[in-house]
Amino acid sequence: MSITNILLQEQEIYSQKTQYYIDLESKYGANNYHPLDVVIAKGKGVWVWDIEGDQYLDFLSAYSALNQGHCHPKILQAMVEQASKVTLTSRAFRNDQLGAFYQKLAQISGLPKVLPMNSGAEAVETALKAVRKWAYQIKGIPENQAEIIVCDNNFAGRTIGIVSFSTEAQYKEGFGPFTPGFKVIPFGDVEALVKAITPHTAAFLVEPIQGEGGIIVPPAGFLKAAEQICRDNQVLLILDEIQTGLGRTGKMFAHQYEDVKPDGITVGKALSGGFYPISAFISTQEVMEIFNPGDHGSTFGGNPLAAAIGNAALDVIVEENLSERAAIIGEYFQKKLRSLNSPYIKQVRGKGLLIGVELHPEAGGARRFCKALAKEGLLAKETRDNVIRFAPPLVISTEEIDWAMERISKILTA
Ligand SMILES: *Cc1c(COP(=O)(O)O)cnc(C)c1O
Repeated sequence: MSITNILLQEQEIYSQKTQYYIDLESKYGANNYHPLDVVIAKGKGVWVWDIEGDQYLDFLSAYSALNQGHCHPKILQAMVEQASKVTLTSRAFRNDQLGAFYQKLAQISGLPKVLPMNSGAEAVETALKAVRKWAYQIKGIPENQAEIIVCDNNFAGRTIGIVSFSTEAQYKEGFGPFTPGFKVIPFGDVEALVKAITPHTAAFLVEPIQGEGGIIVPPAGFLKAAEQICRDNQVLLILDEIQTGLGRTGKMFAHQYEDVKPDGITVGKALSGGFYPISAFISTQEVMEIFNPGDHGSTFGGNPLAAAIGNAALDVIVEENLSERAAIIGEYFQKKLRSLNSPYIKQVRGKGLLIGVELHPEAGGARRFCKALAKEGLLAKETRDNVIRFAPPLVISTEEIDWAMERISKILTA
């Protein structure tokens, strides 16, 4: 009997469709996630539908990868058109989509050179390699001595190199030995940055707002001060905008709030509007020049399908003014959240539509509230133990926020 037949037979004994899909995943899949048990089968704009046909408002947007909303028609069209022409050439050859994608990313970011990868973690790894090589070739740091400063409570992905500088015990436990060359300072602490810099410091890598860390907004002026300190010490300022970038916080990039000019940024997530894994490290001429043919690469990075999708995804952010939308609707939403008279809420924080609602520890953890919200038709996810992240697609309307607020109010003031 084929595996499909076995599965079909198994399916018949389940009374509930949802349970069938959950069990199937659990049986054959690794247990490295703890999802809410909603089995999504369809998405459009800010809405998703589960396998039973129930409708939900998506308040997570795949950790901000769906800024443009689910299945945006313009991106879909670009994807389908390109998929029927050519999808993958490898970088052994050129393709007719990549240049235009580079150009658009360079124009949007204000940085001239792009190196395309797939996942966010790969973009960060690329940045780490770039700053190290820059440190040896340009700054003159002795070979293998380069240091990169990062912040406590950071998140930059899950590779061995990246978890080497994580401060979350669980991200590291059992995965050693780790990559040396990182120094951790408290997030938002200018003095600590000054103290941590040595002649061997290559770069300061930081998220403008810590996303996975619990939507932590640093003190105003922190990035600007960090920029100046980096300049004064010939240290590269690399901003991880994978979650904060592309409109999410109310500007195209979160660092624009302080008019910072970073030496490099990493982007991913919404760079494809959720259609495809696309990421990039974007940097200056001086940094990017250290890469020579053969130094670094990726089979899929910069493929024509990705480039066509990325191009359309960026167009949507610009044409639909999603950054401005995030700023306006984010403020509207945050105001409503702050006005909730809830015994559970400790703090509402964030920028644009990257919003964290921190609950008092006595509230019993954010997860139970997320489960209750899901029952009301609102999909949100806890980050860390006590923070509910509200990060809907940026195409959300004030009417939809009002719809959501009725449910949020019911659950958080009950
Ligand atoms: C999600 C995220 C990453 C990692 O992206 P993946 O595509 O999951 O590898 C890196 N940095 C930040 C700030 C992120 O939010």
